[in-house]
Amino acid sequence: MDNPLLNDFNTPFDTAPFSRIENRHFQPAVEQLIAAAKEEIDGIAYNEEKPTFENTLEALEFSGERLSRVTSIFFNLNSAETNEEIQALAQVISPMLTEFANDVRLNEDLFKRIESVYGEKESLELDPEQHMLLEKNYKAFVRNGAKLNPEGKEKLRALDRELSQLSLKFGEHVLAETNAFEMILTDESDLQGLPEGTREAARILAEERGHEGWVFTLDYPSYIPFVTYSERRDLRERMSRAFGARGMQGNENDNREIVRRIANLRHQRALLLGYASHADFVLEERMAEKPAKVEDFLRDLLEKAKPAAIQDFERLKELAAKDGIKEIQKWDGAFYTEKLKQQLFDLDDEKLKPYFQLEHVLQGAFTVAGRLFGIRFEPVNDIEKYHDEVQTFKVVDEDGAFLAVFYTDFFPRKGKRNGAWMTSYKSQWKKEGVNSRPHVSIVCNFTRPTKTKPSLLTFNEVTTLFHEFGHALHGMLANTRYPNLSGTSVYWDFVELPSQVMENWCYEKEALSLFATHYETGEVIPMELVKKIKDSSNFMEGMATLRQLSFGMLDMAYHAKDPGRIEDIVAFERQTFEETRLYPEVEGNCMSTAFSHIFQGGYSSGYYSYKWAEVLDADAFEAFREHGLFDKETAAKFRENVLSRGGTEKPMDLYVRFRGREPDTDALLRRAGLVPETSN
Ligand SMILES: [Zn+2]
Repeated sequence: MDNPLLNDFNTPFDTAPFSRIENRHFQPAVEQLIAAAKEEIDGIAYNEEKPTFENTLEALEFSGERLSRVTSIFFNLNSAETNEEIQALAQVISPMLTEFANDVRLNEDLFKRIESVYGEKESLELDPEQHMLLEKNYKAFVRNGAKLNPEGKEKLRALDRELSQLSLKFGEHVLAETNAFEMILTDESDLQGLPEGTREAARILAEERGHEGWVFTLDYPSYIPFVTYSERRDLRERMSRAFGARGMQGNENDNREIVRRIANLRHQRALLLGYASHADFVLEERMAEKPAKVEDFLRDLLEKAKPAAIQDFERLKELAAKDGIKEIQKWDGAFYTEKLKQQLFDLDDEKLKPYFQLEHVLQGAFTVAGRLFGIRFEPVNDIEKYHDEVQTFKVVDEDGAFLAVFYTDFFPRKGKRNGAWMTSYKSQWKKEGVNSRPHVSIVCNFTRPTKTKPSLLTFNEVTTLFHEFGHALHGMLANTRYPNLSGTSVYWDFVELPSQVMENWCYEKEALSLFATHYETGEVIPMELVKKIKDSSNFMEGMATLRQLSFGMLDMAYHAKDPGRIEDIVAFERQTFEETRLYPEVEGNCMSTAFSHIFQGGYSSGYYSYKWAEVLDADAFEAFREHGLFDKETAAKFRENVLSRGGTEKPMDLYVRFRGREPDTDALLRRAGLVPETSN
């Protein structure tokens, strides 16, 4: 058959043969590879031999390797270089893969063999990585109901069905409520304070909707600039009240009962599977492990950050008072925060951009990684690409060994989704003496070069590049046996450590002087600007922290205890926010009914992860501040215990081996300037 996806790629480093792949190749390849993978699974499940770690767990781990390579090519293209044909194919291919995954997870014969190996685990003398592989697979089945009796299994499926319908409905309601509101302004004086770009977007929107004037909506790109810049307090209030009322207006899009129902069904589901609560179920596979640990973590941060938050709030009140505002309200927050920021820092992107030419910043990331880990990035021209703008590199270790293939894809185009991400075309693994190296990619949507100027990045884009590059290092430096424990395949609240820690170098003079040079004059970024970048990054951190903590606490309040006690979710939310409240409560507003992260997306019992990851990266970076920003020994420890280890051991164990102790929450507060620096 002439399908390149089913044959040897015959390319340098076995990279994806993009030039030969056509859309018509995907579906038949996936169909055939699923069939082959099924045969492999059957071979394992119905093996006549006694179940062993090798013939069951390892065999399962290495099954379907080609299928995962082909699907990664397909889904990576669907994100970075898609078209209607690929999108239509995704509608066919995704359900096929879901069905296959379900068939495996519900295969009782396969589970019996895994369970049998699991029962003997003490006598098998497994090393930590093997132990993790066994644990992870066994748990995956159990968490999916493998140990339930037929009646229990049926009940679980019914709960899952209802839960997915409710989440969908929750999301549809939020969307409908968001879309139902528009604010039409026809008098130009109503636009006071709004930047040109915001006005322009509002005018275009009005045209599209057949209105005179300007239209503002509750979509973030319209809502956020409006409440941040509009001088019209009455209009900010109108927008803010509409935003906060979504999902609780007593119409057909009301989410109050849905929130209660979701929380209760999740609790029932957890009990059925033998957990005390939904949070216990979720956290079993997180670094934090237990609800009590998360609750202590949030409470500890709250206690320490609250004084700074109150101070921040006082400054806002003072500024608002000068405008005659006696009682500051939610709709004043973003506006006065921005005003204060302008007064204090007078720092805008246009001043910084000339120092951040894309090529220099990328080279800077390479140099930082080189100084830390001794690795090199060599541009290569013989690796196939899916688009002209993609760049390809060969990554080489200090001793000359080949480490990885690295792709970068920086500019927005039609067919690329928004945002920035790291992904891979091939994972790393070791088998029979071969260390098969990964193919890693970062995809972004940065400012394009123009005819007269190179691509000049905003500071936010600079940290984004370092962030994704940090994820990429996690992938490229991986050195494990099993592909599903390799690289970024780690617990959710641990995965942002390598990415976020890299961002820290962007705030340090020592690192910036390596790459932040003016694109015309070559002048290194002035110290005064570096200081402003640093100071402004900590601006209003107290209030920002309090806000994040309040969301994390609300999430845990719904999921860590029996939600059967909740009668009125509005009252419940108010009570939960009691300790974190700064602004007066707004009648008719509620956060829960539009809290899509936890009731629609996958963040339930996980909202704390944002702060958790920040603590990890701040604490990890302090190790470099203590020993030197480019200290090779600290870097080697980080590589050895974190970057190369993927998910082969519990993240806390890996972290403690790197740092010599558990993460110190205060590191985040010190970095944010919320508590004083210590002398050590
Ligand atoms: Zn990330």
